[in-house]
Amino acid sequence: MSRIHTDILISGGGVAGLAAACAFGTAGFDVICVDPAPVITDANADGADLRSTAFLQPARNTLRDAGIWAHLERYAAPLQIMRLADAGGVENEIRKLADFDASEISDEPFGWNLPNWLLRREMLNRIEALENVRFIPQTALRRVTTRNDHALVNLDNGDQVSARLLIGADGRNSFVREALGINAQTKRYGQKALVFVVKHSQPHDDISTEIHRSGGPFTTVPMPDLDGAHYSSIVWMETGANASALAALNDAEFTAAAQDRSCDVLGKLTLASRRAIWPIITQQADHLIGQRSALIAEAAHVIPPIGAQGLNMSLADIETLLTLCMDHRDTFGSAEMLDQYQSIRHPDMARRIKGVDMLNRASMTDHDTLKSLRLKGLQALHHVTPLRQTLMKTGLGTD
Ligand SMILES: Cc1cc2nc3c(=O)[nH]c(=O)nc-3n(C[C@H](O)[C@H](O)[C@H](O)COP(=O)(O)OP(=O)(O)OC[C@H]3O[C@@H](n4cnc5c(N)ncnc54)[C@H](O)[C@@H]3O)c2cc1C
Repeated sequence: MSRIHTDILISGGGVAGLAAACAFGTAGFDVICVDPAPVITDANADGADLRSTAFLQPARNTLRDAGIWAHLERYAAPLQIMRLADAGGVENEIRKLADFDASEISDEPFGWNLPNWLLRREMLNRIEALENVRFIPQTALRRVTTRNDHALVNLDNGDQVSARLLIGADGRNSFVREALGINAQTKRYGQKALVFVVKHSQPHDDISTEIHRSGGPFTTVPMPDLDGAHYSSIVWMETGANASALAALNDAEFTAAAQDRSCDVLGKLTLASRRAIWPIITQQADHLIGQRSALIAEAAHVIPPIGAQGLNMSLADIETLLTLCMDHRDTFGSAEMLDQYQSIRHPDMARRIKGVDMLNRASMTDHDTLKSLRLKGLQALHHVTPLRQTLMKTGLGTD
């Protein structure tokens, strides 16, 4: 067994943990990041994360400062317009469209979309280039003991790590959260998301469309063109039973169902990836901190994939924690610093979780009266210019 000293130990090498490793490493902290899973950075490999992430402007700035954006930029598809479409009438056709155009509030797009498997690849490349950051795959945390001035962590490879700050980025079933005795409140919707990539006959014109009918939204998110063909990633939320039935269809039947649910907004669809299925929950940790420890990303908050908020909240966690560590360079990880993290991030998380929960419930409804209320709400929000612009800024996290 060896005993290793480091500034920061990150539990979890998902997209959030790797982004944190790059951000803290670039800022000059010594970082170790561990993850029990094998490294998968190829879209076609079993277990590859086929989701894509739309990074909003503030998240892009965090990635830029962490030295990652320069490697991602050329693969990113801009999101210029977020389009909400209501298809909640008797027929499955669009009865109202509402466009939210980034040019109303900014010279830049709302965000940029990138596949998660590629994010991991480029973040791991960045870590390779940082001498003060070490990523240890196929290794998990086994025991955590915290003291006033450090956290002592036993890894399952037999090593012991002493860190001035332990960051729990180990996902919705976080080991660190449990080790710190922090409870989390979980809401289940009986809903799942099907995730896949389509090739389509019409260009997406940098528009992401969220089509609401029942069961949850069907969202198209632009991807870069490839060899002259147009691509988008799709997140299709449905009740659990419907999602499982859709997942069991063969490719041709599934493509026909997706074509119908898309209301043809992208023209003719061709399935261009495997399909993955994700359970949808809302979850929030009661606290974000323990002695010498902080929770970030899905260890702290999980929300339904609506409005591209999930990982963007995670990058706001990283940005806040890093800024506090830099401001308290000699005392980072102290109780005073961690209290500040809790008081900055917890209310913002709670507000966004509540907002996305409401949107998801409105989108799931199968009730005609509630569907027409949803339609009226969409019309009202869209028609009043200041309200529309505030909504866009709130979504971006720049309000
Ligand atoms: C369908 C779908 C679409 C989405 N789209 C968007 C979007 O467009 N924009 C957006 O911002 N967000 C989006 N999200 C949310 C976003 O994908 C997640 O927030 C993000 O991927 C979670 O990253 P994470 O690193 O927190 O967790 P994870 O990816 O779950 O990573 C946690 C890591 O911790 C590791 N781990 C587990 N146990 C241990 C242990 N004991 N020790 C060490 N490590 C451990 C795991 O192996 C894993 O690698 C979407 C989510 C879904 C479901």
